[in-house]
Amino acid sequence: MNQTPAHSTYDIVIIGGAIMGASAAWFITEQKEFKGRVLVVEKDPSYENASTMHTNSCMRQQFSTPLNVRISQFAADFVKNLPRYMGNDERVPELTIRSFGYMYLADNEAFANVLRDNQKIQLAEGAATQLMTADEIKRAYPFYNVDDIVLGSINLVDEGFWDATAVFDWWRKSARERGVEYVSNEVVAINKNKAGTRVETVTLKSGEVISCGKVLNASGPRAARTSAMAGIDIPVEPRKRFSWIFAAEKPLDRDLPLTIDPSGVHVRENGGGTYQCGGHSDIDPGVEFDDFAMDHEIWQNHVWPILATRIPQFEAIKVQSEWAGHYAYNTFDHNAILGPHTEIENFYFLNGFSGHGLQQSPAMGRGTAELMVHGEYRSLDMSLFHFDRIVNNKPIIEKAVI
Ligand SMILES: Cc1cc2nc3c(=O)[nH]c(=O)nc-3n(C[C@H](O)[C@H](O)[C@H](O)COP(=O)(O)OP(=O)(O)OC[C@H]3O[C@@H](n4cnc5c(N)ncnc54)[C@H](O)[C@@H]3O)c2cc1C
Repeated sequence: MNQTPAHSTYDIVIIGGAIMGASAAWFITEQKEFKGRVLVVEKDPSYENASTMHTNSCMRQQFSTPLNVRISQFAADFVKNLPRYMGNDERVPELTIRSFGYMYLADNEAFANVLRDNQKIQLAEGAATQLMTADEIKRAYPFYNVDDIVLGSINLVDEGFWDATAVFDWWRKSARERGVEYVSNEVVAINKNKAGTRVETVTLKSGEVISCGKVLNASGPRAARTSAMAGIDIPVEPRKRFSWIFAAEKPLDRDLPLTIDPSGVHVRENGGGTYQCGGHSDIDPGVEFDDFAMDHEIWQNHVWPILATRIPQFEAIKVQSEWAGHYAYNTFDHNAILGPHTEIENFYFLNGFSGHGLQQSPAMGRGTAELMVHGEYRSLDMSLFHFDRIVNNKPIIEKAVI
């Protein structure tokens, strides 16, 4: 990948080229009226520390905000029809969703009521969420210990694992073939006009100053740092999330749903007698942007005991790999932050996706492209998630956050 942009002026500059930047760039090329130039600036094209590379790669429709259900429904449709969405390109693979579902477990009436309320919202949007009593859970999944469980909630339609890497790769490949330019560089400054109402240029680490019509912040957990370059505060911070892949001595006899234990520890089927598990420490502060150190105590003293209690067959397991990743955590209301800035009219946000950005990337990229090119949403209206709600202190709380 080149370091130096081919031009000094672009219609749209996207800061960050992981799944959100890639989706937005590709969907911009889908807007037939758009004839401009797009530059994606990515500081680390290996994506080693991008959230996009540290994930569970799953999608769900169990959200408490109706719009989030719709956003994931579009993801399911996009993934299942990827070749069609990509212009019937014969090179594009057919993908499926491994719909083992997300199993939310409640161990008290208060949380059971949240699951009941959420189910109503999800059903109204056309999701297939089912509530299950402890006995029903035990009959369907005999390996769980449900002694403390009051209620479970699961959806077995279009909810589970999908190959996000394939979608990410094809967005980048296709966008580049359509003329989007990617450079391996870092945006280190965002420069506004005198009135402070427009971004005029961005400065790259290598020194070039690039003029831009519009700028999109797609910088993941670094979103607040990028916004700060334009003098904007956003409530997004990196929060550390640990993942482990382990093999079970005695694998389960059926697919393990992505199970969200009441403790917050979650675990899912990974195929071949292996499982992927995630968790974080009880104290959950924002961390440094480059802090990816593992905390080995958490596995031994917190996560594994919880797993072995919930699924006694997981007493005998062997960790095969582990890593720490970052959520771009929106401390205001846990939902995405989109749309233009309220005063800097050509600065757009695509931020704050916590643990659900992969599945949101098709709808977010499409919506952002529509908004930046046409000035309006033409498919799904996502203005509910615009930045102005933060200025107006009107949170849209998402309760189903993992
Ligand atoms: C452990 C874990 C599990 C997850 N599981 C799921 C899941 O199952 N399903 C799901 O939907 N989501 C999941 N997510 C969330 C999902 O991974 C993220 O929401 C999504 O990847 C965010 O993509 P992004 O492009 O916004 O950010 P990132 O992937 O972090 O990319 C941001 C990019 O911006 C670049 N960048 C930053 N600053 C600059 C700059 N100044 N100049 C140039 N480049 C810059 C970075 O190098 C990086 O490549 C999970 C996340 C984690 C950590």
